[in-house]
Amino acid sequence: MSNGTVEHQASTSNTDTAVRIAVAMGDGIGPEIMEATLKVLDAAGANIQPEFMDVGEKVYLSGETAGINQASWDTINRCKIILKAPITTPQGKGYKSLNVTMRKSLGLYANIRPVMALHPYIKTNFPEMDVVIVRENEEDLYAGIEHRQTQDVYQCLKLITRPGCEKIVRYAFEYAKAYGRKKVTCMVKDNIMKITDGLFHQVFDEIAKEYPEIESDTQIIDIASARLAARPGDYDVVVTSNLYGDIISDIAAEIAGSVGMAGSANIGRNVAMFEAIHGSAPDISGKGIANPSGLLNAAVMMLAHIGQNETADKIKNAWLRTLEDGFHTADIYQEGISAQKVGTQEFAEAVIARLGQSPEKLSVSTLSKGSGTITIPHYERQEQKKDLVGVDVFIDWKGNDPNEIGNNLRAVTGSTLKLKMITNRGVKVFPHGMKETYCTDHWRCRFVPFNDANEPVYEEVDYAQVLALISALHNEGFDVIKTENLYEFDSKRGFSLGQGE
Ligand code: NAD
Repeated sequence: MSNGTVEHQASTSNTDTAVRIAVAMGDGIGPEIMEATLKVLDAAGANIQPEFMDVGEKVYLSGETAGINQASWDTINRCKIILKAPITTPQGKGYKSLNVTMRKSLGLYANIRPVMALHPYIKTNFPEMDVVIVRENEEDLYAGIEHRQTQDVYQCLKLITRPGCEKIVRYAFEYAKAYGRKKVTCMVKDNIMKITDGLFHQVFDEIAKEYPEIESDTQIIDIASARLAARPGDYDVVVTSNLYGDIISDIAAEIAGSVGMAGSANIGRNVAMFEAIHGSAPDISGKGIANPSGLLNAAVMMLAHIGQNETADKIKNAWLRTLEDGFHTADIYQEGISAQKVGTQEFAEAVIARLGQSPEKLSVSTLSKGSGTITIPHYERQEQKKDLVGVDVFIDWKGNDPNEIGNNLRAVTGSTLKLKMITNRGVKVFPHGMKETYCTDHWRCRFVPFNDANEPVYEEVDYAQVLALISALHNEGFDVIKTENLYEFDSKRGFSLGQGE
């Protein structure tokens, strides 16, 4: 069988029950490590049927800027499970990240990266490390919604949703349950982002109650990352949002000493994609020396995901035994520890020769004790009463005296909404700001109703009042760059206060 570029031995099953897998051979070292991985899967008796598809460099260069064509989407839709070797993203503008495209298009909401120390076979300062990072994969700052709003100010929207939080947090607990993990730690920055990260934390607390047998705690991401780097043994499963997860999963992989060895899973409701965490390593491509372990570990995760846990263990244990026996590729070869420097295919042969054996010193893989299928219930929205209680109007103004813009805005007539305060980069500057506060050309001006005593109140208003306000501001020559409605949901404030408000 051929994928059009490389001849290889396809691992196929003899039974009707074989699970169809969409296989992307990738670029650079991709075909070499995929060939080695498929060989091991075949020898271990994985009950799978590969269907090969093209993604990556060749597709990019053919003019598909997303790096994937319709035929490959069709293969994915048929198979639902993807095993993907790394691909090369061509340099230059216009090419989109294939990973981001696939994650978002296929709803791959959970990125799972187990990181385990393999001391003393792989150098690490943390022999006890065995952490699984569960990273939200679809939202947060990665929604990619960015705007330049004034000459000096650029904005990136951080979107956190309740369904997104519920899915990822529940996945983390279900994963812990399925694979016998004891503790789930949530990492957030809700001391600052009280609404977005606050929601993640709140959902974590709600869902943690449903899993009393699993220990749970929440830590602030900055100190938590420092502790993860200094004492990784304190962590078991970590669940966090997209950006924090991106950063801490690299920290975790790096300190385990095994960046080139780690696999990862991108899990969706209907589709899942498994790959190594490293790239296509063009510097060593074609030399036959690449380490196939990252992709092999991804394939092990894939087998566990589709319920072939015993085969997953068989491969993982043989792989651990191969490392113990000192068969090491060049990237992990160490004088005094390694017995033999081997190439990609020789390494695969060494793993195949050990199928059925277990490691003697490293922990034996116990995926077969777990359940391979994690099902997350569909989100059910609880309807809430939503009231508009004011509006933040963002104004581009090149002056630098907050009292000047504040007093000018107070003089605007034509709306029942009046100026409550102004912030600049989130800090209150009017009324009663501090002269030391640095101001840019981006002024967030909060308008709300005023009561009979002429005090600002958050009280229900009609959107027509907002429109009248914008119109009045425009007529007075203010440069309105955007508005953000202020809502309460079931009488609970749905917006942040200005620092110092
Ligand atoms: P890289 O991970 O490909 O390589 C970094 C270093 O690690 C290189 O020295 C390489 O030789 C080494 N290395 C990586 N994997 C190895 C392995 N299995 N065995 C031995 N050594 C290994 O990162 P890069 O050089 O920054 O990126 C190269 C290309 O890969 C780029 O086009 C990038 O966009 C792409 N990339 C793809 C993915 C993916 O498809 N998931 C991920 C990351 C990078």
